Parts: sequence; structure tokens; C-alpha cells
Amino acid sequence: MTETKWRLVIHGGAGSERIAHDNADHEASARAGLGEALDAGSTILANGGTAVDAVEAAARTLEENPCFNAGRGSVLTEQGKVELDAAIMDGRDRSAGAVSGIKTTRAPISLARRLMEHGPHVFLAGTAADRFAAGAGIEQVPNDFFILPERRRQLEEALAAGQEADPIKYGTVGAVAVDVQGNVAAATSTGGITAKRWGRVGDSPLIGAGTYADNRAAAISATGSGEYFIRAVAAHQLAERMRLGGETLQQAIDNVLADIESIGGRGGLIAVAPTGDAAWGFTTPAMYRGMADAAGRTVAIYSGDDAR
Ligand code: ASP
Repeated sequence: MTETKWRLVIHGGAGSERIAHDNADHEASARAGLGEALDAGSTILANGGTAVDAVEAAARTLEENPCFNAGRGSVLTEQGKVELDAAIMDGRDRSAGAVSGIKTTRAPISLARRLMEHGPHVFLAGTAADRFAAGAGIEQVPNDFFILPERRRQLEEALAAGQEADPIKYGTVGAVAVDVQGNVAAATSTGGITAKRWGRVGDSPLIGAGTYADNRAAAISATGSGEYFIRAVAAHQLAERMRLGGETLQQAIDNVLADIESIGGRGGLIAVAPTGDAAWGFTTPAMYRGMADAAGRTVAIYSGDDAR
């Protein structure tokens, strides 16, 4: 039996408009942040660690980085608060953990993992989820900890623009990996979309919409206009196109994105298969993304940016 090569793919969000940011260094910082996340996950995979450990580590690194719309630096709700969503899934047995409306847990992806492993439920929402985290000894912080001035400015802009506002900002984070055992896993973490209303849940924490992993097909993480990814059951649709429809990873990505576009949505997908195959696609002007394997790592933002 040949040993599967490990591989890690991450995204730092698709965006629906050109990158404009108060901080001129933002793009360079985001590229550096993607590199750090790839390193965090790669170290685990290169040492024979599991895909689950690698995707949690990569997503966790991006949650801590204020450049991204996850953890600190997340976009704000209509009320000027941060409410976080996250999910993680293990392709070995399709175990999963997901949380939404997190207000005080510093590491939503680690909370999702804790839930995956210590259930008994798959999905916890709101205060109950933060309480579960506190009870499990997972660090709690005031909601203000997550809030940065740049996101306040974006909220004001969005509220002033009203219906015209384009809510998808770059920065939702995701990671998918295949380890040397050929097991896949996926993780996604986000603050959602700017000016979201109370209780809004996006695709990211919904198993099968923004996050999915199945050793029989692929591990997938999505970013983009969440409402459309939910309606298309995007990540699960991608896996089933491969498993039941015999499509390749890239064909399945392209077809799911076309399906989402046909109902009016835009965004991107990253995916890896147990064979070691990896691919991505997006229908927005850009998607922060990166890939790593034993041969090295690459980071890209715009289309046509791909080094390999
Ligand atoms: N998909 C995320 C959501 O709808 C947003 C994003 O990817 O930027 O919550």
C-alpha cells in the first residue's frame, strides 16, 4: 500500500468587492497570516499528525489574526456586536461539532472540536454554547475583545448604504486537510456578514452547507454569500457529486459554484480528497487562499495568482 501524501488547503475568505482597507499593509499582513496558518497545520501533518488536528490548528491561527473575519477582527452585527459561527468535521466517521452565535468564547473552532468529541450534541447555539465552553474550561473574553475599529467603520458604511450594501467582506477562514493515513477533515470559522440581524446563522457552521468531510469523497470548506450556500447545500453537494456522480474534485467545485451562481450567490470553495488531490475555485474577484504539502507552500489572493 502506498502512503498517502499529506496536504493542507486554507482560505481566508472570498470577497464580493475589490480589496479596500484602511490599513495599506493589510494585504501583506493577510498573506503573512495565511503563511503562518499553513505552517501551523503543516507541522502537524508532516509529523504524522491527524487532519483534524491540522485543520483546527490552521483555523485557530487565523481566528487569532485580526486580519480575518473570525475570532478577533470579525465583522459586526447590525447592533455593533460580534457573533461567531464555527464548525469542524472528521471524514473518518463523519463526526462533527458546530456552534453559532458565540459571543464570549475566544476560540470558536476549538469549542466546535470539543463538542465533536464530547457531545452529546452536534450543534449548540448562542449563550448555551458559550456556557458549555466556560464549563469545559475554554477561555472566555468580553465581546469587545473581538471588535476592531476598521470593522466599526465597515458597519457604519454598510448601514449608510442600506439595501445597496454588499455584505461579503474578505476574511472568513477555513481549512481542509488530508493526513498521511488518508483521512480528511474540514474546519470553518467566521463572524458571518456585516450588519447581520439578530440570530442570523450563515453556511459556515451548518454541516453540509459551509463545512463537510467524508473519507468516501472529500473535505470541504466554503466562503461567500452564506444564504445561497445553505440553499445549495454546497459542501455536501460537492462531496456527493464525487461519491455518487463520479466527478473529479475540480469538476465538483466548478459545478457547485455554477449551481450557486444560478440562484444568485457568489463565493469560493476549497477541498481535498483522501487520495491527496486538492483544489479550489471562486466566483468573486478574489479569495485569500493557500496550499501546503511536503513540496512547500503557496499563498494567493487574486485569480491568476496561483503558483501551481
Ligand atoms: N459564508 C460566510 C457567511 O455567510 C461569510 C463569508 O464567507 O465571508 O456567514
